[in-house]
Amino acid sequence: MKIVFIGLGNMGMPMAKNLVAAGHDVYGFNRSQEKVDRFVQAGGLKSLSIQEAAADADAVFTCLPKPEDVASVVLKEADLCTHMRKGALLIDLSTTSLDVIHEIHRTAETKEVAFMDAPVSGGTTGAEAATLTVMTGGSRQAFEQALPLLSCMGSHVHYTGEVGSGTKIKLLNQYFVGMHTLAVSEAMVMAEAVNVDQQSLYDILSSSFAQSKIYDRHYQQFIAKDDYEPGFALELLLKDLNLTAGLDETLTSTLQGFQSAKEAFHDAASAGFHSRDMSGLYPFLQQEKGN
Ligand code: NAD
Repeated sequence: MKIVFIGLGNMGMPMAKNLVAAGHDVYGFNRSQEKVDRFVQAGGLKSLSIQEAAADADAVFTCLPKPEDVASVVLKEADLCTHMRKGALLIDLSTTSLDVIHEIHRTAETKEVAFMDAPVSGGTTGAEAATLTVMTGGSRQAFEQALPLLSCMGSHVHYTGEVGSGTKIKLLNQYFVGMHTLAVSEAMVMAEAVNVDQQSLYDILSSSFAQSKIYDRHYQQFIAKDDYEPGFALELLLKDLNLTAGLDETLTSTLQGFQSAKEAFHDAASAGFHSRDMSGLYPFLQQEKGN
């Protein structure tokens, strides 16, 4: 199939490469050209214009950081729905807002383009190994059409119902991710304060009730190495928590744990930890506590 993939970042690059590995013709686009060149070295294709590549593409994927990036690329810069052929798939893999999703959906419907929100979970390791969980909202027919492509990137591809339903589930996933990350970070600060060796704690808790994927990821890949190069940037998790809050502001404003997590990530981002991995909440708390 002919595919256009926009956003070759920490997630997009390995996902696009997996589509190439499955034998598809994948045209990669990214704001910085250096990533496009890396993608071409890995077997991807390049074209000077998104519109030209999208015109006869079977599917266009976007994997962009924030709602404003998705809206601006899809609806303005590339004006994708106008340039894509009728019946082609437009799939947003980013974690974005319901407002942006519904705006794209309305535009796509008028041009008879099949739009789906398909946010993913599993991080960069899942993206590389093609083991992502994909939460796909859209028409059942579009889902059946997209399944062979989504299966190149994920091993758990779910149909969640109407457009926007994938995003609601992903934002609840981020609720857990935020809370677990806060718990891991605070427990690490506490371990240090009471002289418990972090490696021993991790080894023991790995077989206890406190074991979690988030603890595994944060400890093994970042905390133990004292290296917080993302991964998943802390500012993107803060973006997600704000989007989660936006699902029901009245309710979430009363949820104390959630508010604490949101505030902690907000403070860390404001203190300059925004571009570190989300597990960088731990060194931020360490700094705050003066350890
Ligand atoms: P990233 O910042 O690493 O990559 C985004 C890429 O988009 C960058 O290469 C950037 O140059 C490019 N870009 C930005 N604006 C652009 C534009 N206007 N035109 C073309 N390219 C543009 O982000 P990421 O970590 O890959 O995350 C992408 C999305 O996936 C986000 O919505 C994020 O919340 C979500 N996500 C990330 C992870 C993760 O572990 N990193 C996991 C699940 C979901």
